[in-house]
Amino acid sequence: MAACCATECLTPVAPGHVMCGEHWAEVPLEQKKEIYHQRARQAQGWPDAKDLLQAAIDAATESVQ
Ligand SMILES: [Zn+2]
Repeated sequence: MAACCATECLTPVAPGHVMCGEHWAEVPLEQKKEIYHQRARQAQGWPDAKDLLQAAIDAATESVQ
């Protein structure tokens, strides 16, 4: 099981989740939408989706510090 990707947060998160509920609640809605959007594109096999998903996760991580 992966840990929450927020800095210094070691809360385990379920597969398919990026952050614990507490940190996820702090992520702006637009960034959540981007993560969901790129995850859906990745599932459809878009070659650039993996990098864009990681960038969206990085941006979300920065916004909860
Ligand atoms: Zn967390």
